Amino acid sequence: KEAAPLNFIEHIIEDDLRNGYKKEQLCFRFPPEPNGYLHIGHASSICLNFGLGEKYNAPVNLRFDDTNPAKEEQEFVDAIKRDISWLGYEWATECYASDYFQQLYDWAVAMVKDGKAYVDSQTSEAIAEQKGTPNTPGKPSPFRDRSVEENLDLFEKMKNGETKEGEHVLRAKINMESPNMLMRDPVMYRTVNKSHHRTGTEWKIFPMYDWTHGESDYIEQVSHSFCTLEFLPHRELYDWFLDQVVDKDKLRPKQREFARRNLSHTVVSKRKLAQLVSAGIVTGWDDPRMPTISGLRRRGYTPESIKNFADSIGVGKRENLIDVSHLEFNVREDLNKKVPRIMVVLDPVKLIIDNYPEGQTEMLEAENNQEDESAGNREVPFSKELLIEREDFKAEANRKFFRLTIGKEVRLKNAYIIKGESVVKDANGNITEIHCTYDPDSKSGSGSEASLRKVKGTLHWVSAAHALPVEVRLYDRLFTEASPDTNKEKDFMEFVNPNSLEVITGYAEPSIKDSQPEDKFQFQRLGYFVVDRDTTADNIVFNRTVPLRDSWAK
Ligand code: ATP
Ligand code: MG
Ligand code: MG
Repeated sequence: KEAAPLNFIEHIIEDDLRNGYKKEQLCFRFPPEPNGYLHIGHASSICLNFGLGEKYNAPVNLRFDDTNPAKEEQEFVDAIKRDISWLGYEWATECYASDYFQQLYDWAVAMVKDGKAYVDSQTSEAIAEQKGTPNTPGKPSPFRDRSVEENLDLFEKMKNGETKEGEHVLRAKINMESPNMLMRDPVMYRTVNKSHHRTGTEWKIFPMYDWTHGESDYIEQVSHSFCTLEFLPHRELYDWFLDQVVDKDKLRPKQREFARRNLSHTVVSKRKLAQLVSAGIVTGWDDPRMPTISGLRRRGYTPESIKNFADSIGVGKRENLIDVSHLEFNVREDLNKKVPRIMVVLDPVKLIIDNYPEGQTEMLEAENNQEDESAGNREVPFSKELLIEREDFKAEANRKFFRLTIGKEVRLKNAYIIKGESVVKDANGNITEIHCTYDPDSKSGSGSEASLRKVKGTLHWVSAAHALPVEVRLYDRLFTEASPDTNKEKDFMEFVNPNSLEVITGYAEPSIKDSQPEDKFQFQRLGYFVVDRDTTADNIVFNRTVPLRDSWAK
């Protein structure tokens, strides 16, 4: 494989290696907050960080940024680990910001003693108001010059849970006139009276993101801390907080930013996805319509298709909206190489072969995957009464209709050439039976002259008596708008597609009767489908991953 050109993130690393960093010092992390399931946007960040780990043979930590007990849960920790492993990545160390609470507290106490932090006893509204605007300087808090002793005493009381939630916060003493609003004495700690999923009720004070993230990177000796662009203004604070604790002999982490990846016709924000779950729009975080990694997995996506998608969009410096058809293209490409073909009819009409012997069944050879010889063959039962797709027949049709009509020939896949003869209709004029005749010498693969005859169309079919009814879930886009959460007037929930799921009965060839959840197939001429975990002994459930072609491109 030809070496790909370096992206700007790799340029940063290469420059650092040229300017004194040792290769052994490289260390990366992926830092999710366990407040929801990972989504396709996170996949970009996972592929970036773990991809760098593979490229530079450097460790990548999985760090749970678990500093807000109000929103975080063990279920999310477990789901995040499962999803990253499923993508095929191995983290060097499983880390938790909550494991650093004592160290962070000790450093904060040292800062208080040093006059670098103080306890503010105002309401959050008052604090916000005094911050001012980017063009006007902020006002100092009346508590800014509290004595070290008083600060230490109050901070200790906060820690011991002797103060009320919202009564005091600890703030860094930086610069109330900084043009960077984040530098105007940012809050470092607040009290939260909730049990934390790991530390229980041991801690009553919880560190804020900015105070936690860089120090966690430093504790783990992460060399490059990559985050999304909205953290660019936080970099100055990241560096200021590091200045308070970094030991000269140790590696100093660097924060660098890349653009968030957004996907069309969905939302990539855990908070918004949580809303879809709690409103019952979807059945859960792993509903096959969700852009979560678990949802995509249940929808039939492979790890490779997600990684190829992430690699193909790459890392950039500007935010953009990637059309979901690009993701679908990647899954088709991957499944085309890997999965067996089967015949399933989704909207059946009966096809009767008038000149085929009554009561006879023959087993026909069918190739599992023409893209993969090692996939082998299987047998499919053929008989006088078959089912074909209703839309594959028209009594009268123009010359561009290459499917079945009266008086014209088509091939039945893996079987014979047939010719349309007549139809039977019910009282309402709906076709209930199509009659045809077959050419007994035209069997596929027999090598006979008739079998090599060229006919324009090939149809899939199943034998009516042998077909297995299966439940088929047809999914469509979850939102009707390409960018549902950027509309200024309407909430994204107003753009939910009311027809994102249609459940039908399909008729499958019997070869699939022992299928297990996550087994994937191409239903010939229709699309890619995966067996859902809702499958039971007498009801196989399929999810449509994607249709064979991009029907939205029409
Ligand atoms: P959300 O708003 O969905 O909760 P987040 O950024 O708050 O997203 P985190 O759990 O903090 O979620 O994210 C872990 C990592 O994944 C961070 O480094 C974050 O920047 C990155 N990330 C999150 N969303 C995207 C995205 N859409 N594209 C690229 N990277 C992302
Ligand atoms: Mg975050
Ligand atoms: Mg978030």
